[in-house]
Amino acid sequence: MTVDKDYSDRIALVRQEMADACRRSGRSVDEVTLMAVTKTKPPETIEALIQFGVNCFGENYPDETIGKLDVFHRYADCVRLCMIGTLQSRKAKIVAESFTEYHSIHSLRAAIVMNRALEQHERSMRVLLQLNVANEGTKHGWRAVSEPDTFLRDVEEILSLDYLTPVGLMTLPPYAVDSNENRGYFARMREMLALVNREFNVGWHELSMGTSDDFAVAIEEGATIVRVGTKLVGPRIYT
Ligand SMILES: *Cc1c(COP(=O)(O)O)cnc(C)c1O
Repeated sequence: MTVDKDYSDRIALVRQEMADACRRSGRSVDEVTLMAVTKTKPPETIEALIQFGVNCFGENYPDETIGKLDVFHRYADCVRLCMIGTLQSRKAKIVAESFTEYHSIHSLRAAIVMNRALEQHERSMRVLLQLNVANEGTKHGWRAVSEPDTFLRDVEEILSLDYLTPVGLMTLPPYAVDSNENRGYFARMREMLALVNREFNVGWHELSMGTSDDFAVAIEEGATIVRVGTKLVGPRIYT
């Protein structure tokens, strides 16, 4: 019980900070979705969050998510399960079968692999393309800011894939001690979304950006989905 009380307090705090950021930037709270990031956390945690009204979840490791599919499927009519980690090709089937959305498509190849997996299940899926907005060597995703032509060429290919419905962009910027350091990266994301919409007239609208440390700044810069783990469910323990 005390644990559940804890979750309700944490959710309320995050929602309050989201509302404050919306107010500061003249946005409506309805424009921003809270995604709970639950990698390494047990099904009980997910169920508790659902009881307190969280309806969007991000998971990184398909093999680990399999152990939580019972919960996600039980609430499938009201809860979205989004893949947000780097997906190995051989795990594409799990995502195609059991996830609602795929937010971390990091290459044309990854898009083609997922399109094929979805075709086999005769299912289409909302997807976001992941940008490596700070050109970090350790991160996946298009370096769209410095190489926009390559990115746009790949977007054109992806738009021709029948089973993917791309609706926006996602990013994980560098770790910053002061969340304001990432403001410029979040602004670049907004510009990249506008670029795609200008080039292809597709009306993409989702910007998934901002984590526990910087979601308020991300909202001020246009985030429509914030991905919050630690601040909602505590630190992750990797075994
Ligand atoms: C783990 C993870 C998060 C959550 O980060 P926190 O700092 O715990 O809020 C968000 N986005 C991605 C892509 C992640 O892998």
